[in-house]
Amino acid sequence: MNYKDCHIHVIPLDRIKDEFKRALLPKTSKTYEEICSSPKKLIETMDNANLEKVAIMSYPSPETHGMGMELVYFVIDYCSGYRDRLYPVGSVHPSMDVKDIITHLEKQYSDIAAIKLHPVHQHFKPNDYREEESGLKSLEVIYEFASDNNLSILFHTGTSILPNARVKFGDPLYLDDVANDFPKLNIIMSHGGRPFWMDKAFFIMRRFKNVWLDISGIPPKRLLDYFPRFEIIAERCIYGSDLPSPGVKGLKENLEEFLSLPISKELKEKIAVKNFDKIYRT
Ligand SMILES: [Zn+2]
Repeated sequence: MNYKDCHIHVIPLDRIKDEFKRALLPKTSKTYEEICSSPKKLIETMDNANLEKVAIMSYPSPETHGMGMELVYFVIDYCSGYRDRLYPVGSVHPSMDVKDIITHLEKQYSDIAAIKLHPVHQHFKPNDYREEESGLKSLEVIYEFASDNNLSILFHTGTSILPNARVKFGDPLYLDDVANDFPKLNIIMSHGGRPFWMDKAFFIMRRFKNVWLDISGIPPKRLLDYFPRFEIIAERCIYGSDLPSPGVKGLKENLEEFLSLPISKELKEKIAVKNFDKIYRT
């Protein structure tokens, strides 16, 4: 039992907006509802799936799920009893004051494995710090904090069908600026721009050695159709499920599907075991 899942979500279902919950719930199972209220249940589910570690996303998004920074602290608290197996991924909102951003990043710093930003649910472009874009200085502050403190940043790329998601912000090409301007920052491109920007995601992966691909949210069976030259970038890929996204049957089912792909055992081990500790602070 040493597999690792780099990307799942745990949300207090009674505290999110009704419309978001309605959009999410038909796709979630009873088990998922239990997981959200009990870390012990998640550990049991992980044991059953052969998973040693999972990383749990959080991000404030008044625009979509309706929660602010309290979601980040909920996830940190949720993981606190099992820190050898549950890894909270923190966040801030780029629309916050620079002062508040620094305060919150410093407060989270000792607890988090990485930082998550969700352009599609937080309504910004990852390169908005640039003058020719919006000159949004708060983004620069977040990237510098992460870079200086050796914390990776995950960016959601690709679509989302949840209420008030703005898909245009999910274009992986915006990461070209970020990778150019912050060469020491470890960038994790979540979902590889699926389902229609994989060519851009592949280009970014090849161009920048500090960019990693989190394959969560891509049905494992489709991975090699989405990325026909997968082996070229596979060394910097990390396995994740994106529970409870549509199409993710469960932690165990998703992992088994990935492990049955026709790629080498060595690569599978890098992607689903070793790379987790390389990109996350564990
Ligand atoms: Zn996700």
